[in-house]
Amino acid sequence: MSTAPEREQAATTRSYARSQAVVDREAAAVSDVMKIRFYPFVPVSGQGTRVVDADGNAYLDFIAAAGVAQVGYGHPHIRQAVVQQLDTLSTAMHCCHPSTVATELAERLCGLVPGDFPKKAWFGTTGSDANDCLSRLLPMATGRRRLITYVGSYHGQTTGSALMSGHQTQATVIGLGNVTKVPYPDPYRCLHGPCSREGCSLRCLEHVERYALETVSPAADTAAIVIEAVQSDGGDIVPPANYLPALRELCDRHGVWLVFDEVKTGLGRTGRMFAFEHSDVVPDAVALGKPVGGGLPLSAVVGRRELLDVATYDLFTLGGSPVPCAAGMAMLDVLAAEDLVANAAARGAELLAGFEALQQRHELIGDVRGRGLILGIELVTDRATRTPAATDAHRLAYRLFELGLITIYTGLYGNVIELTPPLTITSAEVDEALGMFDRALSDVAAGRFDDAKLAPYAGW
Ligand code: PMP
Repeated sequence: MSTAPEREQAATTRSYARSQAVVDREAAAVSDVMKIRFYPFVPVSGQGTRVVDADGNAYLDFIAAAGVAQVGYGHPHIRQAVVQQLDTLSTAMHCCHPSTVATELAERLCGLVPGDFPKKAWFGTTGSDANDCLSRLLPMATGRRRLITYVGSYHGQTTGSALMSGHQTQATVIGLGNVTKVPYPDPYRCLHGPCSREGCSLRCLEHVERYALETVSPAADTAAIVIEAVQSDGGDIVPPANYLPALRELCDRHGVWLVFDEVKTGLGRTGRMFAFEHSDVVPDAVALGKPVGGGLPLSAVVGRRELLDVATYDLFTLGGSPVPCAAGMAMLDVLAAEDLVANAAARGAELLAGFEALQQRHELIGDVRGRGLILGIELVTDRATRTPAATDAHRLAYRLFELGLITIYTGLYGNVIELTPPLTITSAEVDEALGMFDRALSDVAAGRFDDAKLAPYAGW
């Protein structure tokens, strides 16, 4: 662990020449539509919570490849499972030939998702295709054509999942879907008046029932409401405590299914196996992605048997491929063996308390929130008006990068620093990250940042 003066020294002497060369080569060869860039970071190796870039600069990684490196980089147990599976059966065509390892993972995931009814699992390769699968199966299984999702939600970039999204990235998708987007319950930016995380009047849910379900998405034609229990790319928003139980009750009253997108929050990140478990609700189906393949491409939908058995031919050649399934099993083993779900809760509480303390000293921080190890630090230019401080968030993420901490910014206004570190982080690493934030926040507030560096980096 480095000390503050060492970090300062390192930040001023770091070179990014080799990284920049990769960025330049990439610019000529790789499609721009698949790039979101915050700073010239080119990771080449990683171990545990640390990554090293093409110039040999070391970083503490508080993003973990968007929550994919759930148990850190290069975990030996995952490595061993991958090598063993490669040596046994390196690939297979699960859609045509049954697979033992995919079946075992399906059994395990069905056992993890709460719900006292028969369940099954479907496998794809990325979070987007899991939500895309839901966009096809939900109307077929219920005989209802419409979905309700949330403004600010990010469900993916394949056509079905993009049409479900209420995120700025969705604005580029051409096409019409039977999807109605309703406001996400955001205690910091509630449109209906005072709101608190502990509980509120839930006027926004009244909007769903009295407006959406009676007009543009009639209840009798609405298959499901799809929600993230913590809205991640929308700004890491934690809903008021009474929202999800009331939503479950509303869905039951109208015979509408309740589906959770747990692509980023699932499998331990929030200090529970699933984020919706903080609210004691039972889902009809869950979308999983990011960490489910232990770092390899894999996604899943787990839900009611009648949903997952409704049709034939919803399949992909590499969905449920044996190596990602073996890595996913190993990742679940590590979560249990190292008690990482509890670690996520404990380290998350330390981080939240640390950011609350920083908020006392740094005016830029308007709000801090999170569940376990998914946190959002929302920056504002003025605490009274809550005006988003997007440029300061961009500066902060860049300055943290220079100091040796990997973060990104997200949210509808691009003013929320998102943290999704590996679930293996230690208290010492929490302190180290908080120290870098303290320093970077002071630098940004004092104008000690050259904005010219931001020019090539538009982020979202
Ligand atoms: N759902 C959520 C909640 C996500 O955060 C993401 C990715 N940011 C997706 C779906 C899409 O996953 P992928 O990019 O792996 O397709």
